[in-house]
Amino acid sequence: MITILDTTESLKSYIKNRKIGFVPTMGALHEGHLSLVREAKKQADYTLASIFVNPAQFAAHEDLDRYPRQEQQDIALLEQAGADAVFLPKVSALYPEGFSTTIHVGPIGQILEGEVRPHFFDGVALVVTKLLLLVEPTVAVFGEKDYQQLIIIKKLVNELNLNTVIVGAPIIRDPDGLAMSSRNAYLTASERKIAPLLYRVLHDTMLQLKGPSVNSDAILLNAKEKLLTYGFSAVDYIALCDANTLNPLINVTAPARLLAAARLDSIRLIDNVPILF
Ligand code: AMP
Repeated sequence: MITILDTTESLKSYIKNRKIGFVPTMGALHEGHLSLVREAKKQADYTLASIFVNPAQFAAHEDLDRYPRQEQQDIALLEQAGADAVFLPKVSALYPEGFSTTIHVGPIGQILEGEVRPHFFDGVALVVTKLLLLVEPTVAVFGEKDYQQLIIIKKLVNELNLNTVIVGAPIIRDPDGLAMSSRNAYLTASERKIAPLLYRVLHDTMLQLKGPSVNSDAILLNAKEKLLTYGFSAVDYIALCDANTLNPLINVTAPARLLAAARLDSIRLIDNVPILF
């Protein structure tokens, strides 16, 4: 039976003298999240997931109240995947009345996703720091689906001398290539048909970028136009970046990553691919 921890006190006594592999989530779990649980199980003695929809990373106009919640189903899925415990804190347990501390991750939080969501990564950094200090895990597993988040968390853990190894896990996709996401449930049937083309374009663009003496600006512009032609309502970015720092790259030098965000009306999809040699 999975152990349910719904207070910080019960969490503290659970983790005592245990080597924990930690998987933080916002719930509405799918195979992508469960793959992180399986990875954590390989790396530690006890696997603990958390489900917490973090208000600090949503802006006033964003979908905090609309974010899908299915706690009982999530607990059952975590148990099936082999998690030993789940931490389900209340908002008031992590952010009591009067809470005012902030974390600012700096310029890396202002590019790519940060351009449309300027406070997002500071909010993520705050909750991840709190969770890592509470859970004291040996390893914590994050998905490459949120690649910028993974890089920012690695940087944060290093810069704040937190005692956890951050492990990145590959993106889990539906058979047609669409990266699994809790928000995919909001897509209409016709949007769902367009959605996998984001991955297709990223994959094709990645192959083009590896060609000899390429003009990456022209290739990226062409990729953006293709997405719009396929029916995406907007392309927030399609960017070639250094895979470790996320600094923009003019030409492909290893290690590199191609990242994109595109919209199907109100639904924003993000995805990324490595540039493999
Ligand atoms: P979320 O619940 O959306 O905050 O995601 C929790 C964790 O699951 C994050 O580390 C995500 O990167 C990861 N994740 C979400 N979707 C996927 C996916 N399709 N493949 C792998 N990891 C994922």
